[in-house]
Amino acid sequence: MTGTVVVVGSANVDLVVDVPRHPGPGETILGGNLRRTPGGKGANQAVAAARAGGADTWFLGALGRDEAADLLLASLTGAGVHTDLVARSAEATGTALIWVTDDGENAIIVAPGANSEVSVDAVAARRLAVADVVLAQLEIPLETVVAAARARRDGARLVLNAAPSRDLPAQLWAEVDILVVNEHEARDLAGRDGSPAQLATALLERVPAVVVTLGGDGALVAERGSEHQSVTAPRVTAVDTTGAGDTFCGVLAAALADGASLAGAARLAAAAGALAVTRPGAQDAVPTATETAHLAR
Ligand code: ADP
Repeated sequence: MTGTVVVVGSANVDLVVDVPRHPGPGETILGGNLRRTPGGKGANQAVAAARAGGADTWFLGALGRDEAADLLLASLTGAGVHTDLVARSAEATGTALIWVTDDGENAIIVAPGANSEVSVDAVAARRLAVADVVLAQLEIPLETVVAAARARRDGARLVLNAAPSRDLPAQLWAEVDILVVNEHEARDLAGRDGSPAQLATALLERVPAVVVTLGGDGALVAERGSEHQSVTAPRVTAVDTTGAGDTFCGVLAAALADGASLAGAARLAAAAGALAVTRPGAQDAVPTATETAHLAR
């Protein structure tokens, strides 16, 4: 793959514990051993884009000056992500508290820390101006996402993964080229219920293209003026769904930067997402280009 991707977003240390079931309100339950792994939607997606092979990937984010930051920098550089746009903050590195049940379902609470300070300075703006794809999520200040989108060149695409669910300001809606959402996020943004196809059709009134990810059922690709296309996910046994959506988004962005069609990029992304759920962790679970190509065939 070729092309340039800038991922603008969060980096967190994930504190993960396996549990037999989700705790109820006011309840304490015993879990398994604590794992400490690199995560955060932005950093996960940057690792996925870089590991997709070939796309030159930058991560624009903020870390504290702590051990968690070292863990994240090691993971990013290990995957081949450029880290010269990563700011260091007096705040602690973002932290996510995650619990995973036996059936691979997870629940997450994020303490943003340094992620609240991600911003677009002059150096970042110059890099954004030469990117083919700018990929962002919603775990950082929304004005930073808008500023990053506005710094991109004509013809470069903004892929927005609207996660976690938040209301989007009109200035951000206006910038989005491709919206990537799971079913919950699609419902929240559309402000209604319905099938994935109905939700995608509703969202196409606001953005030119929408991808709704559907877990084990793959994804739905919707573009203005074309029939919706279904993309199947390879059948796998899920052990940990953390980071599946992030893997999907990173691989999608890398394939788009390389010139793939949206449906072609989504097929590769769905295969990569399926591989990610077969392994524990977020960044640690992201497959290589060779593994994904093998499964996507
Ligand atoms: P999110 O993690 O954001 O909720 P999804 O659960 O829709 O996103 O997963 C993103 C992608 O990961 C899916 O489109 C699919 O390709 C893959 N995936 C997720 N869960 C499974 C699964 N159980 N089996 C196969 N692929 C999966």
